[in-house]
Amino acid sequence: MLLEQRLSAILPLVAGGAALLVLLEGRWRRHHALQFATCQPCDDTERPTPQKPQKSSQEQQQKPPKPVTPRRALLGVEESPTVGLSKDPDATTRRDCYIGWDDYFMSVAVLSAFRSKDPNRQVGACVVNPESLRIVGIGYNGFPWGCGDEQLPWARLAPSQLDTKYPYVCHAEMNAIMNKNCESLLGCRIYVTLFPCNECAKLIIQSRISEVVFMSDRYHATDAMSASRRLFKLAGVRVRQHQPRARRITIDFDQIDL
Ligand code: ZN
Repeated sequence: MLLEQRLSAILPLVAGGAALLVLLEGRWRRHHALQFATCQPCDDTERPTPQKPQKSSQEQQQKPPKPVTPRRALLGVEESPTVGLSKDPDATTRRDCYIGWDDYFMSVAVLSAFRSKDPNRQVGACVVNPESLRIVGIGYNGFPWGCGDEQLPWARLAPSQLDTKYPYVCHAEMNAIMNKNCESLLGCRIYVTLFPCNECAKLIIQSRISEVVFMSDRYHATDAMSASRRLFKLAGVRVRQHQPRARRITIDFDQIDL
């Protein structure tokens, strides 16, 4: 009888303790799942759970919530199979909207072109070591170091060639090669947004770059590009046009809110 009384007194305490443990474990899991999903540094500090604005029941009926999947790109076009950042706290498999190497390096070349001050054409280049897959040089078209962007002409046409940009501007390939952060570019690959001119072809060959990946071939029919192809062929430099796996890559700083 005494034993039954003691048990009946203890059991509610045990059940209460178990419920408390389950509650704490659930809170811990939610807390750490959120931190992992957002790639924030994990520490022991309790963070307040972000409060989402409450929608009315009418709004919820009109717009059913989108299923969050690893394919959902937060940057770029959500509905199309593109690349971008995504968030799926419940995912257990690798996401598939990551960027491929070729697209990645060509995107770096394109982004470099954003830096160009040339009002008519912006070209970017990115040199990569294909074994380590590391970027070893980046460049875009512009005037030489120390020559101010306002001190030389940007015009394409002028009565005198000295009043055009052509005698002064350094092409993206030249800058990428000169900006190299390693001793040698032997066996490297260069990604360029525009097929290299004959002057850049000579630089590429002499720097021992062995592969050219280009995006645009806009001036294919010109003598300069014919000379480039001839030089590349003689020197054994492989040339191929980039075939993007992701047709569209968008960077929208306003959407970076993971
Ligand atoms: Zn060039």
